[in-house]
Amino acid sequence: MVEKYKVLIGGEWGDSASGETSEVVNPANGEVVATVPKCGAGEVDACVTAAAAAFPEWSGKTVAERSKLLLELSRLIMANQESLARLETMEHGSPIRKTMNFDVPLCAEQLEYFAGVARGITGETLPVGPWCLSMTVRQPLGVVGLITPWNFPALMVVWKLGAALAMGNTCIVKPPSIAPLTALKLGGLAMEAGIPKGVVNVITGPGETVGEALVGHPGVAKIGFTGDTATGKRIMRVASDTVKQVGLELGGKNAFVILEDADVDSAVEGAVFGAYFNTGQVCAAASRFYVHQSLYDEFSEKFVAASKTLRLGDTMDFATVLGPVAYKGHRDKIAGFVERAKNSGAKLLFEGERPSAPALQEGYFVAPTIFGDCTNDMELMRDEIFGPVVGLSRFGSPDEAIGLVNDTPYGLSASIWTKDTRAGLAMASQIQAGTVWINEHLIIFCETPWGGCKESGWGKDLSKMVFDEYTMTKHIYVDLTGQPVKPWYGILK
Ligand code: NDP
Repeated sequence: MVEKYKVLIGGEWGDSASGETSEVVNPANGEVVATVPKCGAGEVDACVTAAAAAFPEWSGKTVAERSKLLLELSRLIMANQESLARLETMEHGSPIRKTMNFDVPLCAEQLEYFAGVARGITGETLPVGPWCLSMTVRQPLGVVGLITPWNFPALMVVWKLGAALAMGNTCIVKPPSIAPLTALKLGGLAMEAGIPKGVVNVITGPGETVGEALVGHPGVAKIGFTGDTATGKRIMRVASDTVKQVGLELGGKNAFVILEDADVDSAVEGAVFGAYFNTGQVCAAASRFYVHQSLYDEFSEKFVAASKTLRLGDTMDFATVLGPVAYKGHRDKIAGFVERAKNSGAKLLFEGERPSAPALQEGYFVAPTIFGDCTNDMELMRDEIFGPVVGLSRFGSPDEAIGLVNDTPYGLSASIWTKDTRAGLAMASQIQAGTVWINEHLIIFCETPWGGCKESGWGKDLSKMVFDEYTMTKHIYVDLTGQPVKPWYGILK
């Protein structure tokens, strides 16, 4: 059955003014599972009006009051764990074992983190005077627009929404057209938790119209965005007309560096997770492997062997570890990368098989694929593929590896595999990336900041640093004397 979803504006569920809808497709079998309203600039206006109207009440609450509501939302997420997980699996193609055990519990945990830590976010008193008191206070920005991607449909909403709400902002969420259902469901749960009407609005429609109208709207104080680097650049341009703040978590081309002394078996385990988790649709996915020449053959053989064991299949089966990619166009784009790589001089080491079940033949499956003998000038080693396709390359010295790793416009993350922590730290300090893991890849905690440099964007999600993204720091100065003792007044006398 194709379910008809509505958008959430000012606490009311509604259709688009035009009555138009767009379809949401299950990538595991190509079937339409739902429709959502195809909104336009008019509905963006309505969201901004509703969010602005809700701002005095929401920002007027104490942090403790807002925290309690976020904790209730967290509780409701876990109370709806299975239905949320099934919904995300259906709209995005992540296997149910991942959405049940990773995405949904992490959404709840992150809200707990935001609810708790927000209560410790403070301003400062500043060392001036003694005739005055000078302090900073943290204030919400107002109405914020949160434009989220499809690779973690629920989690990316929570990353931004939790922090923005905790700090007293009212929010308009614009989820991806490919996978908007969990965002709408989260909007409903926010209402059920008792968050007042208009504080959380969720609007669906094309990025080029709805997203861009949000970015250009003078009533929106900030845009929090995760997605493609090209879209991020466009958002910066549009936002400049209203001098709007933007937080940009963009693409990556993440290096996985195996030093001469690394434990190869543990590097293989990290490589499998780093490259294939979420079918490689992760901004921080390991996609460029630089292996010391003495370990290259051993690593590539073991990595290929481990890649052969991964089970692609029915996403509602708890035994399935890899699902399809999120939409047909993306599957075709990845297939294009693979075909061109085959003619690039790289050596195809492994190309996995699509699932054979008849029910999955229309699904957008891409199997793990590994190329060897890669060089940094190849498209495979330069462009973000966003799928389970990786390239391996050799290096001779740590300096050579650092040069190869930094030879990219991106700067999101990298990992270094070594038994020598000093050598790992020395290399980490020279790598241009927002996160460098040593003997891990793709591990992110609520407590650790997430965000890149170079064309991977700026600003941070998660950790205490995210609260800077959704507050403005105001300086307040108080004269304590009532006397004209100010040092600069004499200049005019
Ligand atoms: P986009 O950057 O286009 O989509 C991300 C979000 O931005 C969606 O909500 C989208 O809406 C919205 N959007 C699109 N255009 C605009 C615009 N002009 N103004 C405001 N908002 C806009 O990514 P894609 O979904 O097209 O994915 C393309 C590639 O981006 C992937 O193959 C991958 O390489 C990369 N990507 C990186 C991510 C990351 O985490 N760094 C996440 C997702 C993608 P709508 O869906 O309606 O178009």
